[in-house]
Amino acid sequence: MTTVVVGAGIIGTAIAYELQKRGRQVVLLDKGEVGRGASYGNMASIAVTEFMPASRPSIWKQIPGWMLDPEGPVRVRPAYMPRLLPWFARFVAASRPAKLRQLEAEGAVLCKRVYDDLMPLLKETGLEGELTEEGCLSLYSNEAEFRADREHIDILERFAFPHQLLTGAQARELEPALSDSIGIAVLFPQNRSLRDPFRLVQRLAERFVALGGEIRRGAVAGFERSDRITAVRLIGGDPIAAEEVVIAAGAYSGRLSKMLGEPMPLETERGYHTQIMSPGITMRHSIIWPARAFMVTPTAGGIRVGGTVEMAGLDAAPDYRRSKITVRRAQTALPDLRCANFTEWMGHRPAFPDTVPVMSASAKVPGVFYATGHGHLGVTYAATTARLMGDLITGATPPIDMRPYRVDRF
Ligand SMILES: Cc1cc2nc3c(=O)[nH]c(=O)nc-3n(C[C@H](O)[C@H](O)[C@H](O)COP(=O)(O)OP(=O)(O)OC[C@H]3O[C@@H](n4cnc5c(N)ncnc54)[C@H](O)[C@@H]3O)c2cc1C
Repeated sequence: MTTVVVGAGIIGTAIAYELQKRGRQVVLLDKGEVGRGASYGNMASIAVTEFMPASRPSIWKQIPGWMLDPEGPVRVRPAYMPRLLPWFARFVAASRPAKLRQLEAEGAVLCKRVYDDLMPLLKETGLEGELTEEGCLSLYSNEAEFRADREHIDILERFAFPHQLLTGAQARELEPALSDSIGIAVLFPQNRSLRDPFRLVQRLAERFVALGGEIRRGAVAGFERSDRITAVRLIGGDPIAAEEVVIAAGAYSGRLSKMLGEPMPLETERGYHTQIMSPGITMRHSIIWPARAFMVTPTAGGIRVGGTVEMAGLDAAPDYRRSKITVRRAQTALPDLRCANFTEWMGHRPAFPDTVPVMSASAKVPGVFYATGHGHLGVTYAATTARLMGDLITGATPPIDMRPYRVDRF
C-alpha cells in the first residue's frame, strides 16, 4: 500500500517518517527542496504558550488601524482585501466569547502534549542537544502594556502553563543585552527553541529515507479517483499511484483541497525574518514584545529577528521593508543589536480563521487526509501532528478527541 504525503515541510516530513515507521510504504512529494517552505526560516520556538486564538476582539478591532499603517504589526495589502473578506468574516465569527473559550481549549490540548511527542522525535533524529534549555521572555515597557496582554496570561493561568513574573531588572539579569526601558517581563520556561528548525526537517527526511521511504520532486496538478483516491497527477510527470494521500502542503493545501472538491478557508499569514550573522550581542533566551509584535531567537547561525503578519496571498512578491521595520523594533529592546551581516527571508504560515489546525480524514474522498493550518505553531505542533495523523491513518485510536480538528468544521 503506497501512501503519498504531499509537502515536505516540517508537517509532511514528520508524518511521512511516522507512517514509514509504522510500516506504510511512503512517498514524500514536494515541488521544491525538502524543508524550504515556512519550515525553513521560522522563529524556531516551541511556543507552547501561544495557542490563544488570533480572533480575539482585542486583535481584530485594531485591524482597520493597522491597515492604514504600513509599519503596523499586521499589514493587509489593500489590493488583497477583497479576496480576504470571506476569510475575515469567519475570523470575526470565531471571536464570540463561547467560541474563543472552545478554541483556547482545543489549542491547549495540543500544547499540553507537545514535549511528550517532541522529545522522542528529537532523540531519534539525534537532535536533543539542539533544543535550548532557556525559555522565552515576554517584554513590557510598563504596567499599561502588561495589562493589555493580561488576557494572554489569564489563559495560561487557566490552563496551568508555567510562567514567572519578573521585574525589568530581573529580566536584565537573565538577558543583559535588554534595554533599560523594559519595566516588566514574564518568563515562559517551556518555550524553548531549536538551534535550527530546518535541520530538524532535514534529519527527519534522512531518517525517513533510511527506513525505506522515497522522496520525489514534483508539483501536484490534480488527483485521480474512483470511489476513493487512486493517484496523484504531477505537472510534467507520470502519476503516482496511491491508496492514501496526505495533503500537508502548508499554505498551498487549500489549492489542493479545492482540486479534491473540498475547499478549505486557508490563508497565508506571510511572515519575515532577518538572520543576523554578526549581531554584536549574545543571547540565551528568545524574546517577544507583544506590543511591538516582534520576536528574537538566538539560533545556530546568529540572531534571528522576525514576526509580524502580512496578508497578501501566495503569489505577491516579498516586501522586505517588513523585515527592516521588525529589526528596528527589536533594536528598541536590544539597543546594541547591530544589523550588519544579514539575510532576509519570507515564509507562508498556513492559517485558518479559527486558529486551530486541520488534522483529519477527508469528508469527501476516502483515502485522503489533511494536516495543515498550523499557523504560528507548525514547529511546535509537528511531532504531535505526526503522532495523531499516524493514529488516524493507520486506524489506531488517537489519545485525544480529534473532532475539533476536522476538515468539515467550517
Ligand atoms: C516568520 C515565521 C515565524 C514562525 N515562527 C514559528 C515558531 O517560532 N514556532 C512555530 O512553531 N512555528 C512558527 N512558524 C510557523 C511554522 O513555520 C509553520 O506553521 C510550519 O512551518 C508549516 O509547516 P508545513 O509543513 O505545513 O508547511 P511548509 O513548511 O510551508 O511546507 C509545505 C511544503 O509543501 C510544498 N508544496 C506546496 N504546494 C505543492 C504542490 N502543489 N505540489 C507539491 N508540493 C507542494 C511546498 O513546496 C513546501 O515545501 C513561523 C512561520 C513564519 C513564516
